[in-house]
Amino acid sequence: MFLKRIELQGFKSFADKTIVQFDHDITGIVGPNGCGKSNINDAIRWVLGEQSVKSLRSGTNMADIIFSGSEQRKRVNMAKVTLVFDNTRKVFDSPFDEIEITRQIHRANNEAGYFINKTPCRLKDIQELIMDTGLGRDSLSIISQGNISSFADAKPEERRGLFEEAAGVAKYKKRKKISLQK
Ligand code: ATP
Ligand code: MG
Repeated sequence: MFLKRIELQGFKSFADKTIVQFDHDITGIVGPNGCGKSNINDAIRWVLGEQSVKSLRSGTNMADIIFSGSEQRKRVNMAKVTLVFDNTRKVFDSPFDEIEITRQIHRANNEAGYFINKTPCRLKDIQELIMDTGLGRDSLSIISQGNISSFADAKPEERRGLFEEAAGVAKYKKRKKISLQK
């Protein structure tokens, strides 16, 4: 399973529809300061369900991630980002060879919509789909600044959580916890 493509439209500095292809073993994104490298990282976390506006380095409302205009361009009213994953090895529990996960937001209502392969879904469906694939929240697929030292400094039980996610048992532990609450 790997990320084949990201499509961004209206997300932060990406006013126009922009497609980033990762088919050819990309090892890095380079560019001058402020050109949007970190915004691509933010876009990936946003689609995967990030709810913290602060951690997305935006304003105070989720709608602040929408392109807010520049000297040359008027602001836009909608942001939409799609991640396209290769699923030929069926790492995602889905029969499809490609998995598209989309998140969209409109300025008018500050509300987000989520889609899996163009079908509307809940955030919970995306969380279930990515759990145990290594993409889940707090997984090791995105390592931000400071993560490495906090992993080294973590208590054994905190570190164990990361190993459980990597080993694929996190999903069952979460389901057990939910069913015990009922
Ligand atoms: P560096 O090399 O300094 O880390 P970078 O390539 O990672 O730079 P980003 O942080 O991805 O840069 O992009 C910052 C740019 O994105 C800034 O120019 C900022 O104005 C722009 N930006 C962020 N949010 C929005 C928004 N909602 N609307 C328009 N532009 C935005
Ligand atoms: Mg940056």
